Amino acid sequence: MDNICPRGENNMIILCANPKAQYLSHKSEIEETIKNVLDKGKYILGDQVESFEKEFAEYIGVKFGIGVGNGTEALHLALIAAGVGEGDEVITVSHTAVATASAIIQAKAIPVFVDIDPTFYTIDPNKISEAITEKTKAIIPVHIYGHSADMDPIMKIARENKLTVIEDCAQAHGAFYSGSRVGSIGDLACFSFYPTKNLGAIGDGGMVVTNYPDFAERIRLLREYGWKERYISHLPGWNSRLDELQAAVLRVKLKHLDKDNNKRKDIAKLYFEGLKNSKFNLPSTKEDGGHVYHLYVIRTNKRELIMDFLKEKGINTLIHYPMPIHQQPIYSKYTRVKLPVTEKYKDEILSLPIYPELLKDDISLVIDSIKEFEL
Ligand SMILES: *Cc1c(COP(=O)(O)O)cnc(C)c1O
Repeated sequence: MDNICPRGENNMIILCANPKAQYLSHKSEIEETIKNVLDKGKYILGDQVESFEKEFAEYIGVKFGIGVGNGTEALHLALIAAGVGEGDEVITVSHTAVATASAIIQAKAIPVFVDIDPTFYTIDPNKISEAITEKTKAIIPVHIYGHSADMDPIMKIARENKLTVIEDCAQAHGAFYSGSRVGSIGDLACFSFYPTKNLGAIGDGGMVVTNYPDFAERIRLLREYGWKERYISHLPGWNSRLDELQAAVLRVKLKHLDKDNNKRKDIAKLYFEGLKNSKFNLPSTKEDGGHVYHLYVIRTNKRELIMDFLKEKGINTLIHYPMPIHQQPIYSKYTRVKLPVTEKYKDEILSLPIYPELLKDDISLVIDSIKEFEL
C-alpha cells in the first residue's frame, strides 16, 4: 500500500474519483504490460486489442466485442450499425452524460427524451410507449450511476414495436440485472473506458458488445475506414480504433474489476450505514449487489450549502449533471414533453467521493462532515 496516493492537490483534497490511485494500486502490472507493448512494436489493432475484446465479451456474457475509440463513438457506431439515420427518432433520457444524445445527433437522428423513474433515476418504462412514433428506430436505456435500467419492460416494448435496444453501459461495467450483466440484454451495448469509469484506461477507449454477428461485422468495418480487407472499403467507415496500450492496461484492470466493484459496494455500505438517519435521500438498488456504484448520488434541497461546507473540509463533490440535456442550448429544440422528475432532481443531486482506493478514514470524514452539517 505504500505507493498509494489516494488524495489530490498535495494530499489535501478528497477527490470524487481518482484514476491515479488506481494506477498506483496496480502499478507494477500496468508498467510491465506497457513495456511489453512498447517492445513488441505493434501499436494499433494487435494481440492486446484482440485478447481484450474476447476477455471483455466473455466477462459481460456476449459473443462479440469490438474495441473502439471511446464511449461516444461506441454509441455512434452502434446506431449506424443498427441502421439508424437521417430523421429517425431514438428514445433516451435527458438525465445522462451529454454523449448519449450527441451520438444520436451525429448519426443524423433525433433524440426523444423520456423522464426518469423517481427511485432509480433510469428511464421510466411507463413513459416510453407514449414517446414512440412511426419514426422511432431505437431505444438507448442508460444504466446511470452504476444501476441497471429496468430492462424487462424496455425489451418487451422494443420487441412489440420492432425497435433496436442499445444499452449505454458507460457507467455500469459489471452491474447486474436479474442475474445477467448489463450489456448482455439489449441488441447492442456500449461501454466507455474513460479513466474515471469503473473500468478505466489511461486515455480514451470504448467497446461495443453484441450477440449478433451482423452487427459485430458492421462495427468492425465502420471503425476502420469500412475495410473488410486492407485498403478495400465496403462501408462508409472512418477511424475509431482502440489502441494496444489502452487494451493492454484494460486487460490488467479487467482482472481486478469485480474486486474493485466490491470495494465500491463496501464504500456505499458505509455511506448507507453512516447516513441512514440523515435527511438526505440515499440511492436505491433493486437487486442486492447489482449496483456497481460508479457514483454514489444523494439528494438534498440544501445542495449548494453542503457542497461549500464539504469543500471547506477538503472534500470534493460533483454534480452529475448540473443541466439535463433537454435544457442545454443546442438540445432544447428536441424537447417535446415536460420531464418533471429530471428537472426537479437536477437541483438536488450530489455525488459523494467514491472510488475503490478511497481510505476508510476519508469515508468517515465525509460521513462525519455531513452529520456535522445537519446539526
Ligand atoms: C462517459 C459516458 C459516455 C461517453 O463516453 P466517452 O468515452 O467519454 O466518450 C456516454 N454515456 C455515459 C452515460 C457516460 O457516462
